[in-house]
Amino acid sequence: MSEYTKEQIVESVPQKGFFGHPKGLFTLFFTEFWERFSYYGMRAILVFYMYYEVSKGGLGLSEELALSVMSIYGSLVYMSGIIGGWLADRVFGTSRAVFFGGVFIMLGHIALAIPGNVALFLLSMVLIVIGTGLLKPNVSSIVGDIYSMDDNRRDAGFSIFYMGINMGAFISPLIVGELMKTSFHLGFGVAAIGMFIGLVIFVATKKKNLGLAGLQVKNPLSANEKKRIFTIFAVVAIVIGIFVAIAIPKGWLTFDSFIAIVGILGFLIPAAYFIVMYRSPKTNDVERSRILAYIPLFLASVMFWAIQEQGSTILALYADKRTNLDFMGFHISPAWFQSLNPLFIITFAPIFAWLWVKLGNRQPSIPQKFSLGILFAGISFIVILLPAYFGGTDALVNPLWLVLSIFTVVIGELCLSPVGLSATTKLAPAAFSAQTMSLWFLSNAAAQALNAQLVKLYSPETEMMYFGVIGGVAIGLSILLFAISPIIQRFMRGVH
Ligand code: GLU
Ligand code: ASP
Repeated sequence: MSEYTKEQIVESVPQKGFFGHPKGLFTLFFTEFWERFSYYGMRAILVFYMYYEVSKGGLGLSEELALSVMSIYGSLVYMSGIIGGWLADRVFGTSRAVFFGGVFIMLGHIALAIPGNVALFLLSMVLIVIGTGLLKPNVSSIVGDIYSMDDNRRDAGFSIFYMGINMGAFISPLIVGELMKTSFHLGFGVAAIGMFIGLVIFVATKKKNLGLAGLQVKNPLSANEKKRIFTIFAVVAIVIGIFVAIAIPKGWLTFDSFIAIVGILGFLIPAAYFIVMYRSPKTNDVERSRILAYIPLFLASVMFWAIQEQGSTILALYADKRTNLDFMGFHISPAWFQSLNPLFIITFAPIFAWLWVKLGNRQPSIPQKFSLGILFAGISFIVILLPAYFGGTDALVNPLWLVLSIFTVVIGELCLSPVGLSATTKLAPAAFSAQTMSLWFLSNAAAQALNAQLVKLYSPETEMMYFGVIGGVAIGLSILLFAISPIIQRFMRGVH
């Protein structure tokens, strides 16, 4: 594989053609738009598909199990980004990884679209976990490749891309939420079509728009390494295979023990990452200090996503069971609430971007923004405990409570999420920069691994306590983080 320099790659991408941005952004925007369309469309109805009775077209699982599966699945989807990032870096290059990822994801949605049984459902999850791991971190990192280092359109490029994510996430629940009334499988079919359109756009426009971006394998495996890694891979696969074959009949590997294992990995993997980065001889003293500064930010991010991601689990159940869905003469689909978060993001992201520019030097520091992020996430859970406080848990709740709670999370999300990725890129040591995208997604993976345990504690009887304790912990952590933010800022050694 020939080596291209950063300049050659940037020169190969037509630098105008998409709202004053490089043409490549068109390709990446629409690929990710359709990928997120399929992902969030599927997730908007998956939880209902799992716990609805068989007579209503569902799988008839318990609510508790359905919520745990949603969380564990979400966790694995973001955890697999490490493997996707590694494969792109060492084997495929990012562009091919995105393509293969899209194919896996599409097949995953097709498996769900076929009316079938639990086996197809499990197969679909495996395909989507692998596919998203290949696609998501890599499509995002190509965005960085198409701008030169000193191009001041770079941050705006990421913001446009972020809008694409949320536009896809906004539209699909509206469509699949309507279709699920007829059949869940129709809804999953639409998700498959969405990913297909994304793949067609990617393949048809990548040569012209992306040039050399994403083609290079940055750090290809040497022949020796290849042999070693594939041997390790084969041995691990065989060991896991034998373990599973023995453990399932013996009753050692139950669903509960599986989610416990993922829960542990959710924290063990980032911890290992931090230790390896900290101890690496390629990391210098300034970078070590920045790693220490990043740890509390990472933990805050875990807290934030733990609440935000419950929007598609606990709050989806709340929308279905606790909310009055007949509103102003309409019957609302419970899946439609999933469109609110991205709708608010699209509406308010430009206002926040304007606000930070307007505040200039007076804007909150990075740790303070993280602290605001978890503050609003915590308040959103306090908001959603109020209906039970005022009206008990028997009466159906006005849907506007959910709207208000989701709106509050979004205020937090706009303080934390757009800053998070750029903070990760600035604070991670240079030698690990290829993996920063995956590192950031690991905070979401850890959050959802935690959620798989937390959601078991929710029931209408424990509702107030549940929202109150989690919301209270988030608010407490926010205050703590705010208090130590000058110290974190000092450890960041000049990063703003
Ligand atoms: N809503 C975000 C997305 O789908 C979540 C990912 C993250 O953890 O940043 O891109
Ligand atoms: N706001 C989420 C993200 O940035 C999307 C969602 O939760 O629907 O992609």
